[in-house]
Amino acid sequence: MLIDTHCHLHSSRFKKDLRDVVARAVDAGVTQMIAVGCDVESSRQAVAIAEAHPEVYATVGVHPCYVMEVTQPDWLEQIQTLAQHPLVVALGEMGLDYHHAPPEGTSWETYKSVQADFFRRQMDLAFSLHKNIVVHQRNSLADAVTMVSEFNGRLSAQFHCFIDSWAQAQPLLEQGHVISFTGITTYPQAPEVLQCAVDATAGSFMLETDSPYLSPQAKRGQRCEPAFVRNTAEAIAAARGVTLEMLAHETSQRARDFFGL
Ligand SMILES: [Zn+2]
Repeated sequence: MLIDTHCHLHSSRFKKDLRDVVARAVDAGVTQMIAVGCDVESSRQAVAIAEAHPEVYATVGVHPCYVMEVTQPDWLEQIQTLAQHPLVVALGEMGLDYHHAPPEGTSWETYKSVQADFFRRQMDLAFSLHKNIVVHQRNSLADAVTMVSEFNGRLSAQFHCFIDSWAQAQPLLEQGHVISFTGITTYPQAPEVLQCAVDATAGSFMLETDSPYLSPQAKRGQRCEPAFVRNTAEAIAAARGVTLEMLAHETSQRARDFFGL
């Protein structure tokens, strides 16, 4: 039994066939999915999707790439209200993104400081609600780690879509955090990401698709969907020299612990 710990089922690309998407995941052995919100509206949608599908849980939060678009002055209160829903298993995604340029008219300096402000306020909220967090970081791992470190021992973070080395992951895991791997582990041009998944100790990581993005190599060019977490699992299991069942067991156990499923 596999768990897709990070998918964006609210995406318009799933609008027409979400029920089939979830059914295909279950058929592929992906029996639980975490639908991740990226702003107030998509967080609300993630919760609604979780309510409609017993296999789906939700997270709620504001992604760093959307912080400049948040217009509701009470966004944090809205996230807080959503977070109290019993199917919400973590806050996020939240974090820092230095890869995508700021919107026109916004300087990098302002952009980074607004991202950091949203990140810190959501971590404060998560701590007050006793929830773990889903962290997005892109070209910003060091700053994200510094910010999360302020909460070490108080909450645990999933560094999702991990593409850095095991040496960078190890201190995070020692502090009680967790990493997760996407279909990038199957890309021939990213052998170092698969290597990290090979070096990682058993039980230290989870699996995800980040669908509708990042289809594994075998499905490249298609819309990614939660069923494809199986392709990633097969690639990592083969590289680690373990069975799919063993990898599924270890990664799903870690996911159940992290999200309290
Ligand atoms: Zn995501």
